[in-house]
Amino acid sequence: MSVLPIRVLGDPVLREDTRPVAEVTDATRRLIDDMFETMYAANGIGLAAPQVGRTERVCVADVDGAAYALVNPEVVHSEGPKAKAEEGCLSIPDIYGDVERPSRVTVRALDRDGETIEVNAEGLLARCFQHEIDHLHGKLFIDYLSFLKRRSALAKWEDEKDQYPGFIRILKPGKSASEHPEEEL
Ligand code: ZN
Repeated sequence: MSVLPIRVLGDPVLREDTRPVAEVTDATRRLIDDMFETMYAANGIGLAAPQVGRTERVCVADVDGAAYALVNPEVVHSEGPKAKAEEGCLSIPDIYGDVERPSRVTVRALDRDGETIEVNAEGLLARCFQHEIDHLHGKLFIDYLSFLKRRSALAKWEDEKDQYPGFIRILKPGKSASEHPEEEL
């Protein structure tokens, strides 16, 4: 398994749609394993393929010890009151913002064996799934911020982004620079 470099805001891959995976193969499983390794190295709770420069429709999550690898995930049902909470993103380090999302979702996907699964999620797991599935369609959490909050987040990012030449964030295994790791997805 390898820790992969993380692409940060400014890399066009983060704005591209992904390709559905036609068949879950050993190559898909290798990608999943590398994505878990990368997510854990970054102390994140979720990671989507475009964040490591890949275009397969794959994401991983680990919230409160429940780990999921989702291939071709889609939200098939959402309900409950909308919940607002602070989010961050491994691809936009040190930038945070409140995002309102449905508090309960049902996600359908293929698992690492290619079997169809449905997961009912609420709370942080529901938020994480929605954030990652957005990534698979080129959408980022900052897109939900109000005009003023988005402008201020992007201004802060202007100061941060020079740390990531080529829009690449290199992680050191087992070490995170984040102050809010529990919220990074
Ligand atoms: Zn993210």
